[in-house]
Amino acid sequence: MTEFTLIPSAGTAAVDAPFTGRHLIDGTWQDSADGRTFERRSPSHGVLVSRSALAGADETEAAIAAARRAFDAGCWSRSSGKDRATLLLKVADLIDARREEIARIEVLESGKPIAQARAEIEGAADIWRYAAALARTLHGDSHNSLGADMLGLVLKEPIGVVSIITPWNFPFLIVSQKLPFALAAGCTCVVKPSELTPSTTVMLGEMLIEAGLPAGVVNIVLGYGDPVGALMSEHTAVDMVTFTGSTGVGKAITAAASGTLKKVALELGGKNPQVVFPDADLDQAADAITFGVYFNAGECCNSGSRIIVHEDIARDLVSRVVELSRRVPFGDPLDEATKVGAIISDAHQAKIDGYVKDAASAGAEVQLGGGEMEVPGLPGRFYQPTVVSGVTPDMAIAREEVFGPVLSVLTFRTMDEALALANGAAYGLSAGVWSDSVHTCLEFSRRVQAGTVWTNTWMDGFAELPFGGVKESGSGRELGRYGIEEFLEVKTVQMRIGRTRQAWVAAD
Ligand code: NAD
Repeated sequence: MTEFTLIPSAGTAAVDAPFTGRHLIDGTWQDSADGRTFERRSPSHGVLVSRSALAGADETEAAIAAARRAFDAGCWSRSSGKDRATLLLKVADLIDARREEIARIEVLESGKPIAQARAEIEGAADIWRYAAALARTLHGDSHNSLGADMLGLVLKEPIGVVSIITPWNFPFLIVSQKLPFALAAGCTCVVKPSELTPSTTVMLGEMLIEAGLPAGVVNIVLGYGDPVGALMSEHTAVDMVTFTGSTGVGKAITAAASGTLKKVALELGGKNPQVVFPDADLDQAADAITFGVYFNAGECCNSGSRIIVHEDIARDLVSRVVELSRRVPFGDPLDEATKVGAIISDAHQAKIDGYVKDAASAGAEVQLGGGEMEVPGLPGRFYQPTVVSGVTPDMAIAREEVFGPVLSVLTFRTMDEALALANGAAYGLSAGVWSDSVHTCLEFSRRVQAGTVWTNTWMDGFAELPFGGVKESGSGRELGRYGIEEFLEVKTVQMRIGRTRQAWVAAD
């Protein structure tokens, strides 16, 4: 009997023909001038899922120029909030209508389970609707107490041309955390999805065209970080870059953007601590910890991969989490019962394994897992649910983003110690606290360095609430009303009303 709960191949991965991805430039779908393409094979089933045009500098330049022309022409940037909202709502309806088709491609390109892909698409549609509401309620400010003949206006204007660069782990959700807000603000955009998961962003482009978006307002370029993403970051015709991905690439983008001092918004990695106090409900905590570490196979910026547990309850909590980990269904992402799918690439699988092996050789104890996993009938790569205890803060597994189904367990005795461990990482994306005491939860929430704090819960997400990180987890916020503010410039207009002279120079 296997130690784990495995879902074998459901035998349903046949792809009639690979999805064909082209660039969307100035309202038309285009191949690359030199005819080059790149392919994506399913990390779970091995089948060829998509073949996409591979952009070079020429296609990227053309897309940026189209976005610039569209912005300057004003067809979108000076349109009404009502018109923008109408279009965003149409896109949300089209997302709903194509949900199954988008979810299936997302599963085959990323290896995530179908039920989670579907939920991601539904969540994305909800965000498009939320952004539509913001488009209609967008307003500036006025000051009428500056003096009898003075009026001050604070205008909110679209920042301009925005480069949107996204990763592979939640391809459709992440582009939907950026693009509808940029559009609601009146910006025009160039979008580059990850080369590992390009197709659902192409589908989104199809929906934007079908909904009636004017040519050039959204352009999509398919290809690699170099040269496409790099050019999108440094280009003088681009006013802002919004990026989700690794901290290393975020730093490279910031350096590239600095030549023009354009605005950069960054959603980067995390090494998210969940601190468990002795008065916590361990049943509830163990279940949420299991979800937090294995959701999306741990390939999640919000992975709750670092448990900091009070030493009195550490043994009890770890044994509960190990027991639950054996019961999490790992396997065929196309099976409705699967909760954890495949790992994105061979190189990434090797990196995950390296962290576990290094920790073990440095004295940590692998309580469960710690190796690759065969799933019957599937050629793809899977990693065992892994729990590592006895981790110390100096180990790489405690400091760096593993981005796999691997939980590290550290222990503490006092609140100060717990906070020192939690805040000891270079990251500051999210954090969690488990306790029955509202005082403990609030003290921890106020002292921890993180953009989001979950208390007695983990990884709920709402379009209404801002999301982002501090320290090396990034800058700027997505979602909530902050989500649209990122894409707006503030312009101050001061008006002298009437004919009164300032009398700076004495009258004759
Ligand atoms: P990545 O940084 O390797 O790639 C992200 C995107 O950047 C891809 O489209 C890639 O082609 C592009 N890129 C690569 N080099 C570039 C360059 N020099 N200039 C411009 N663009 C370049 O990240 P990934 O492996 O796709 O995704 C995983 C990472 O994303 C993890 O670190 C994860 O924590 C992070 N992430 C963060 C959030 C968040 O909201 N904070 C959400 C999801 C993922």
